[in-house]
Amino acid sequence: MLTAGKPSEFDADAPEGVSAFLALGGNLGDREAVFRDALRRLRENGFAVDAVSSFYETAPVGCEPGAPAFYNAVVRGKWAGSPEALLKLCLKLEAEAGRPPDHPHWHSRTLDLDLILFGDRVICTETLTVPHPHAHERLFVMVPLAEIAPEIVFPVLYKSASAILRSLECRGEEMPRPVVKLFPETSAE
Ligand code: ADP
Ligand code: MG
Repeated sequence: MLTAGKPSEFDADAPEGVSAFLALGGNLGDREAVFRDALRRLRENGFAVDAVSSFYETAPVGCEPGAPAFYNAVVRGKWAGSPEALLKLCLKLEAEAGRPPDHPHWHSRTLDLDLILFGDRVICTETLTVPHPHAHERLFVMVPLAEIAPEIVFPVLYKSASAILRSLECRGEEMPRPVVKLFPETSAE
């Protein structure tokens, strides 16, 4: 999107990059340490983190019997590269955290890093769908996302994170429970 004057946060040509949201999930190992490490590695690899939600604990859904509870969180940052390169970084950090490449869906994992939103881009390729196709159905994504960016609007749905969350709350499912708050102001330094 080319605009005259000041670049918007959605402007792919903005020199500081596009504002993107990633969802973190994991239920194996020291979950808090895995998340802190992932945030550090994201920054080291050029994802300029500017907001981090609380870490939430969520009961496992659809996992193998006896699976431990998940931690979930959402992080926002500026990314100067392509969305595909950001997905590649996510997959690299998952592998570094000990997640095998042939990992089955709906199974315990040390780290899952999903690309939820990439500015206002809509992407649908064999390897990448943005907005993430299930984000708007998942309390464990929408609760932390609405914590740090309640007004952010999902392209295609044209609904804000807080409006999507309100519609999910009607389903009466167990809410993710905040267990770790890194910083009172939810900034990421
Ligand atoms: P889930 O996150 O639903 O548990 P996986 O992490 O096992 O599923 O799936 C990973 C694959 O999903 C990636 O290899 C990637 O190609 C694909 N994928 C498609 N869209 C996205 C997205 N927005 N974020 C992360 N992975 C995605
Ligand atoms: Mg994933």
